[in-house]
Amino acid sequence: MVTPTMEPMSQHPQPPARQQQPHRPYDGLRLMHVHAHPDDESSKGAASTARYVDQGAEVHVVTCTGGERGSILNPRMDRPEILENITEVRRQEMERARDILGIRQHWLGFVDSGWPDGDPKPPLPEDCFAVAPLEESVEALVRIMREVRPHVVTTYDERGGYPHPDHVRCHEVSVAAFEAAGDPDRFPDAGEPWQPLKLYYHHSFNRPRMEALHAAMQAHGLESPWEERLKNWIPEPEWDERITTKVECGDYFGVRDQALLAHATQIDPDGHWFAIPRELQVDVWPTEDYELVVSHVARAEHEDDLFAGIDAPGGTL
Ligand SMILES: [Zn+2]
Repeated sequence: MVTPTMEPMSQHPQPPARQQQPHRPYDGLRLMHVHAHPDDESSKGAASTARYVDQGAEVHVVTCTGGERGSILNPRMDRPEILENITEVRRQEMERARDILGIRQHWLGFVDSGWPDGDPKPPLPEDCFAVAPLEESVEALVRIMREVRPHVVTTYDERGGYPHPDHVRCHEVSVAAFEAAGDPDRFPDAGEPWQPLKLYYHHSFNRPRMEALHAAMQAHGLESPWEERLKNWIPEPEWDERITTKVECGDYFGVRDQALLAHATQIDPDGHWFAIPRELQVDVWPTEDYELVVSHVARAEHEDDLFAGIDAPGGTL
């Protein structure tokens, strides 16, 4: 029964239901992250990666080593059969993370150098990434850069983000390849020259972020995982000021967490990665932070986008 107060529909035509168009401003743009080990792509910059993929960019991850010498950091996975097949297990973990993040992934093909434990530190193994001739690893990365043709490249800072020999080497190789990829005189057999437009360093574990999360945990009466770490961390304000670019990606922290969990041998679900409630992280620090190091396009002092200043093939960003 139609109630008398209801007017016939025809007098008030409704607009047609709006088709939900995906917001894809980055269609046609390509981002390349260069990382040392499988799992680094999920622990550094993963939420911004997920955001860029969702909004149309093609994101590539180059993994320099297979993570063969990594320790098992999740007690649930510390079993002999896992350790025996660690290379294959980590390859499968990487494939799962790749699918969760929606990235394309490339192995650079070098062997993990391992974390040198001891005082003095033992020499690095002969077959490893950190001692492989630089020209060899740079050429391998130049070849992938010329094939993928990224507009933007990210890597670690000159300290490696943390002082693992593979991370420091990853920085050296990425910076050298960024410079060489567009130079026709360098590695002429490694493809047509292509000059990426911007180079960034990750600032994933910056002190201001950790302090803000630590303070928020305490304010909520929760136990902060960063108490010890902050106590032993000498402040370096000039280092923190190097951050130029803060990419909003709080909506994608859930995807980041799933990608991290895919690396089951490396990530303890009960460990520090998941000690801070996600809602609190979104509230307190909803960005991932980067430092613009080289730019072949006009640069702004503060950015919120790794592609800022680059024209998208489909129109302006
Ligand atoms: Zn690593």
